[in-house]
Amino acid sequence: MKVLALAGDGIGPEIMTQALLVLSELEKFGFKCKVVSMPIGGAGYDAYGDPLPAETLKEAADSSAILLGAVGGPQYNALPRELRPEQGLLRIRKELGLFANLRPAVAHEELLDSSSLKASVIKGLDVMIVRELTGDIYFGEPRGQRTTDSGEREGFDTMLYRDSEVARIARSAFEIAQKRSFKVCSVDKANVLDTSILWRQVVSEVAKEFPAVSLSNMYVDNAAMQLVRDPHQFDVILTGNMFGDILSDQASMLTGSIGMLPSASINTDGKGLYEPVHGSAPDICGTDQANPLAIILSLAMMLRYSLERDDLAKKIELAVKSVLQRGYRTPDIKQVGCDLVGTRFMGQLVCEAL
Ligand code: NAD
Repeated sequence: MKVLALAGDGIGPEIMTQALLVLSELEKFGFKCKVVSMPIGGAGYDAYGDPLPAETLKEAADSSAILLGAVGGPQYNALPRELRPEQGLLRIRKELGLFANLRPAVAHEELLDSSSLKASVIKGLDVMIVRELTGDIYFGEPRGQRTTDSGEREGFDTMLYRDSEVARIARSAFEIAQKRSFKVCSVDKANVLDTSILWRQVVSEVAKEFPAVSLSNMYVDNAAMQLVRDPHQFDVILTGNMFGDILSDQASMLTGSIGMLPSASINTDGKGLYEPVHGSAPDICGTDQANPLAIILSLAMMLRYSLERDDLAKKIELAVKSVLQRGYRTPDIKQVGCDLVGTRFMGQLVCEAL
């Protein structure tokens, strides 16, 4: 098994170091894998003049799974769009066909007070958003700007889904639901959009392949409301690219800090890119303040979804929980009466807990 580590920019290398220490700690459970490190984003541009160097892409194609830190930084802001760090990320997702984006929103018992919602609303929350990542209005053609006959400027995009794209992401959601609570809620806007009418039809057809999983449908505006009113009604939320973009950020924030949020993007072969939801946090880079738990929890997702080691994923998640239970916090999740620790010590604590 080969894991590609793409540390990237800003706090990326700091948190990646901790994630790789946790990965090597798994050797004590008999787990071994080869780790290869390559540059991406601004680091790719600095080393090879390209945010996704050919060498990095080659290693990515040749790896079982990819772990990514973060990309971007103010020093790259003046670069032309195709050379900017974010392009490295967009291109690797496209090249590997990573169509399924998984964003869990889990309320850690120990961090309930970090949420802006009442603890009673989010206690025990565990939702998985499955978002389609390569289609929809972000990629549909035609798109652009034009001037009308009356001289007014207008902008336009095309919302478009083919049934094969919908069926593929629906199957991913149902398969994930089979590993959880056997419940899928498909979110669309079928009262207004033709794309959503097709979406709903195809999802219902795919549902027949998974008789043990119950399917419900919800309009996106209602889903946004229900997520803050009573998020416990959801288990797996299946949705398209644009609705998922918005709902996944909303759902993840139910649980508090950005430094705690993992994500996965997976292709048809089960290969995945695993990364924290946060960016490169240039404001705290080099200060040992970054929370490494989001990337460590991304590593757990990698073990579960690409490396078929759910047992080890659970061990990492339990180790994180025990460190939080013992009252250790990085500055972004600090609470009165807790022990404030830095990036390195937090990583060490997780290794010890393992
Ligand atoms: P950001 O997520 O980097 O930071 C937002 C805030 O959250 C900052 O105050 C930061 O200090 C804090 N934060 C982020 N991660 C943290 C962590 N692990 N521990 C503690 N605090 C943390 O978002 P931004 O400031 O909007 O963007 C900074 C750079 O990151 C930009 O160049 C942007 O393009 C890039 N970015 C990259 C990704 C990615 O690599 N997937 C995602 C978002 C933004």
